[in-house]
Formats: sequence, structure tokens, C-alpha cells
Amino acid sequence: MKHALNVTREADFAAWYQAVISEADMAEDSGVRGCMVIRPWGYGIWERIQKLLDQRIKETGHENCYFPIFIPLSYFEKEASHVDGFAKEMAVVTHHRLIADGKGGLMPDPAAKLEEPLIVRPTSETVIGTAMARWVQSWRDLPVLINQWANVVRWEMRTRMFLRTSEFLWQEGHTAHATRDEAVEETLKMLEVYREFAENCLAMPVVAGEKPEHERFPGAEATYSIEAMMQDGKALQAGTSHFLGQNFAKAQNIRFQDKAGEFAHAWTTSWGVSTRMIGGLIMVHGDDDGLRLPPAVAPHQIVIVPMLRETPEDDAVLTYARELRAELLKLNALGEPLRVHVDTKAGKGKRWAWIKKGAPLIIEVGGRDVAGGNVSLVRRDRLYGEGGKLASAVLLRADFIGQAAGLLDEIQLGLFAEAQARRDAAIVRVEDWAAIEKHFTGGEDKVIGWVEADWSRPTGAALGAVAAKLKALKLTVRNTPVGATAPTGTCVFTGEPAVERILIGRTY
Ligand code: AMP
Repeated sequence: MKHALNVTREADFAAWYQAVISEADMAEDSGVRGCMVIRPWGYGIWERIQKLLDQRIKETGHENCYFPIFIPLSYFEKEASHVDGFAKEMAVVTHHRLIADGKGGLMPDPAAKLEEPLIVRPTSETVIGTAMARWVQSWRDLPVLINQWANVVRWEMRTRMFLRTSEFLWQEGHTAHATRDEAVEETLKMLEVYREFAENCLAMPVVAGEKPEHERFPGAEATYSIEAMMQDGKALQAGTSHFLGQNFAKAQNIRFQDKAGEFAHAWTTSWGVSTRMIGGLIMVHGDDDGLRLPPAVAPHQIVIVPMLRETPEDDAVLTYARELRAELLKLNALGEPLRVHVDTKAGKGKRWAWIKKGAPLIIEVGGRDVAGGNVSLVRRDRLYGEGGKLASAVLLRADFIGQAAGLLDEIQLGLFAEAQARRDAAIVRVEDWAAIEKHFTGGEDKVIGWVEADWSRPTGAALGAVAAKLKALKLTVRNTPVGATAPTGTCVFTGEPAVERILIGRTY
């Protein structure tokens, strides 16, 4: 069967991923390595993500704020493991003026060297912690619950659009609490916000759990993640929530007087998700005809394509399309008014363009539809009918209006169910190391998913040995799922009694 993209998932998953992005007009190279131009369709998805997640962040008591993009180097130096973790990927500003270099070009003016280098923020714990130290004096000032939507820069060496870029867009939540328990509770609460958001809005099933010690955020006491499975069986860490203990509070001096008048350091957390989620959407839902968007995050949920022929009949077709849109705008689905677009651009192939962009419902109307009071409908989630032909159904316009909201609900749930079934079928329980080796030596390109195993939670050097053993098979521990059943066997690495259950897989 012929498909809209010139490469299939099966033939070359990485090339397919790039093809979806370019054919759907989501993003393109910018000329600066690792930095991308996010085009309106890609950015529209990000705006949907922002809106739905921002609601949830505010409903859980957080407020938005904004901190500067430049952070003095000395702020980082206060937390040793934090600066260690990020040093390799920090962009540094050292000058504030250029002068002629005598060869017709420009160079940094030696007389305009900054007294202290400024780091382009890779994450904002240090600068937000410094502000918290000013804001917090008494137990009455706690908790501090804030979030910012911003761009950050991490000089990544191996980049891929959306998944790993040197500049990316994200939200970062930062909170400070009077007690350890409260901070742990916050860390897990936001992990659950991410899980619920990923599953209900992105229709992306995820496993929420704790990362192993060596994969913690630099400076954190515990890191939790949501892990999603892509169609090639690899894992994508789609969001993280960190319990920072008192590490940053001590480094930044966030201190308060408790009810008894004693001074104590606060307990802090941070949590973030980024434009990486858009990469996840592509790799979870996309097919060989392009993107398939869950209606909750589709910038346009219904696209109406009037078939214009540059004849006098066009006016009636356009009016019909616009009236249909006006009727649909009165409806709600997934808790919001419908988002409906009429594509009035000239030219052919518009319907396929929207198929590649993943619009959930695509309506075509032509002169004959106007006369008959019909619409022809294509569902992006069920593109082909019998004989591999595009499944376009002719419906009475009134019937379509009656069904539209229900169809969007159905597509949202259907995409989730499909992704969940695929993921669940690709998680296999293993009892020992031999089974892991056997499972993952079936060839790089095979969809081999994840394995579920029990381990003894080694630390330090023993954990290093485990990580090296896994790395030889290009594997990593994804996480220890929250609420996983108790382990039944022995540790697949050490043979010791197991203490918890983990997921192991290849990753992006
Ligand atoms: P972190 O602050 O390291 O916990 O990162 C928070 C989240 O941002 C991660 O869970 C990823 O989903 C995402 N992320 C990290 N690095 C990148 C990157 N280079 N490009 C896009 N997203 C990223």
C-alpha cells in the first residue's frame, strides 16, 4: 500500500520521525546546530500542552513567575554536584560588546569583559533558590510554590528535533517546604500531575517511577520520571520530578524560623517537562501517513476543506464551510469548545496535507455536498477502508454536527487504548540475567520493548557494575514503578534477595 510519507516506520524509524516533522510543517533546522525553528503547527501543539498543563499546575496551588535567562557562574558553584552535572553543557556569556577585529569582522571587546561570566540557564534551581532565601524567613512564608515557562540551554552533543535540542522550551516548577514529608509529597504530587496529563491529554501511556541513584538529577536526593514507550520499543523519559532534600536550601541558604523559634533549612523540589513531549507524541501516535494528534492537543480538531474550483460556485461552498464551522464552534468536547479551522488556501492536496499534520477529523465540502446538505468525513485514526482505499464517509451535515464531539472523545480514547495495548504487549517479565541477554540480542531494529525485572537496588560501585553490564547491551534502568507489585524473585544482577521491581529498556 502506498502511504503519504516516503519512508515507513518499519523501514527506518529515525528517518520516518524526521519525515513526519517536515511533512507536517512542525519544525525545521535553524542553521545553529541543535536549535530548531518551531513552525506554527508545532508551536500550536506546544501552546495546547502549555494551556492544559498550566491549568493543572495552578490547580495544585502553584503560581507562575519569571527569572532571568542569565545566571552568575558563582550561583552554580555553590552546589558542587549540580555544577558538576551541568558543567559539560553550559553556554557562557563573557563579553557585552563587540569591536572591529581589523579584518572587516567583529570580535568581543577585551575592554568589555564581564567581571563574572554569566551562564545561559540550563535550569533555574540556583537562581530561584537565591530568591527563595530572600522570600523565606519564617515558617509562615512556606511553602513557596512557583513555576516558570521558559527556554533553557544545554549544549547537547547528539541532538534530535524535539527529543533532545540544545535550546528547548519547558516549564520548571520550584517549591520550598518546611518539612521533608511535605517536600516528598509535593514531588510525588507533581509526578502524578505529569502522569495524568500525559495519559489524558497526550493519550500517551506512561510509567511513573523512581530513577536509580546514578540517573538522578545533579544535586537531587531522589528523581522520579514518567517513561513512555515509543513505537520502536524504546523508552522516552517524558518528564521528571525531583526531591532535592536540603541540598539546594543549604547551598542557597533558604532558612526559616520554625514554630518553636528554631532556625531550619527548607526542603525543596523541582519538576519539569519540555518540548520533548512533542517528539513523544509523534513516536507514540504517528503512522506511515504522518502525525496523528490526540484531539486534546490538536491545534485544530476539525479541519474543513472547501473544494474551490475558481468558479462562481466557490462562494456557496465557502459560505457552507463557514456556516458549518460556526455550528461546530457552539459545541464542547473534552471540556472545551471545539477548535475548527476552514482551510481557504488555494491549491490541491489540502486534505492530504491535513492528514500528514494529524488533524483528528477532516471534512471536505464541494458543490455537490452543498446541494445535498452533506459533508465527507475522514477520520485520521481510521484512514483506510476496505481495499486500502481512503475511508471517506458521506454524512448529512446535521448528522455530522450531532456526532462531532463524540467522535473526538472516541479518537482521544482510541489513541490511548491503542498505545497502551502496544506498550503492554511489549513489556516482558524476566527472572534472570540470561533471559535479559536473550531478550535484547534479537537485533537493534527489532521492536523488543522493555523487560520487568527484580533487583536488590545496588548502590555505589555495585550499581556502577550493573550500569556497565546494561550499557554493553545499550540498556538502562528506566525506573522503579510507583506502586509496582512487590518483587518475588532474586536480583537479576547479583542473585541477592530482591527489594524492588524495575523496568529496563533502550532509550532515546
Ligand atoms: P531535568 O531538569 O534534567 O530533569 O529535565 C526535565 C525534563 O526536560 C526531562 O525529563 C526531559 O523530558 C526534558 N529534557 C531534558 N533535556 C532535554 C533536551 N536536551 N531537549 C529537550 N528536552 C529535554
